Amino acid sequence: MKIAVVAGDGIGPEVTAQAIRALQVVGDVCGHTFECREYLIGGTAYLKAGSPLPDETLKACLEADAVLLGAVGGPQFDKIQEPHLRPEAGLLRIRKELGCFANLRPAIAYPSLADCSPLKPEVIRGANILVIRELLGGLYFGEPRGIEQNPTHAYNTMRYSEAEIERIAHVAFKAAGKRRKKVTSVDKANVLETSRLWRQVVTRVAHEYPEITLDHALVDSFAMQMITTPSRYDVVLTENLFGDILSDESAVIAGSLGLLASASIGGKVDLYEPIHGSAPDIAGKGIANPIGAIASAAMLLRYTAGLPQEATAIEDAIRKTLDAGLRTKDLVRDNGRAATTEEMGNRIIETLGDLLHSRMAYHAV
Ligand code: NAD
Repeated sequence: MKIAVVAGDGIGPEVTAQAIRALQVVGDVCGHTFECREYLIGGTAYLKAGSPLPDETLKACLEADAVLLGAVGGPQFDKIQEPHLRPEAGLLRIRKELGCFANLRPAIAYPSLADCSPLKPEVIRGANILVIRELLGGLYFGEPRGIEQNPTHAYNTMRYSEAEIERIAHVAFKAAGKRRKKVTSVDKANVLETSRLWRQVVTRVAHEYPEITLDHALVDSFAMQMITTPSRYDVVLTENLFGDILSDESAVIAGSLGLLASASIGGKVDLYEPIHGSAPDIAGKGIANPIGAIASAAMLLRYTAGLPQEATAIEDAIRKTLDAGLRTKDLVRDNGRAATTEEMGNRIIETLGDLLHSRMAYHAV
């Protein structure tokens, strides 16, 4: 596979390096070839090439089998005046150019991290939610948008077509079919027309999946229910803005933003990235948690490479490493020792190598 790596800004390159190492181990042990080439994106790309998404990067991403992204942004780029030159513009544009309309963000409560979540262990026990966020519609892309003067005012447009809702609904019902067969569709149908259409279309698509149970929830109360009773939910389907907020909130269930991975699929080329940002407060210190990035590589193997066993091996290696007690700083409680990014990466990769070798030996027998 040809993988375009766009590590970006802040901790992006630090965590992405560990994800690439995990892919390399899978390749070496299982006989796959992952050709990872690095390209510029975000603020770093703006500084070096004058654009947050240089043409060379876009071309390479469109020609790749998958894209692995770190993170973009940082306070040093906040002074860039022109919106299209800001790091986040590069991120939104690459998602749009690749056509990835479905963003999948799993949030799992690892038993060994029960003490990391601010939620009570009995609340998060067994929680395993897959947030499916529509990624190319709604307020983030709707036109018209702008800031105008006399009097000064700003506006954005929330717009959804029936077809956009239909295609994301199918992704959610299919995903639920491979899980606990439950979809909760989240909207604001008591206030927004876009949400009323959303609810109508999702309800209609549900008829094609009689084995899946569908519930609807209003986003405001759901925001509370998701963290008070997370184990009630399986697949959570929602639009772009609500999904952005709810998926970060779901990180509370897992214990840290640094643990969560994401896949953006459904377009020309799939894009994988941890859900966190560039974490400028810890960038360059070598203490970022690489698990979200490594778990994103696992999602790449599952959804794009068609290698579910190798994906599971990475996820098992992460779980075993956490079970063994290793913690990066974001997961440390009570003055425990914090592992560096490199140490966490090393341990996951060693464990992964052992798991893959033993599974290969088992199949050889
Ligand atoms: P953030 O996700 O970068 O950081 C929030 C907090 O979580 C910080 O305290 C950070 O140290 C911590 N954190 C995040 N990832 C971590 C990891 N892997 N290990 C340990 N701790 C981690 O969000 P923010 O501070 O709101 O944003 C910082 C910059 O990132 C902004 O410029 C923002 O626009 C950008 N951003 C980019 C993306 C993306 O590239 N997809 C997503 C969100 C934010």
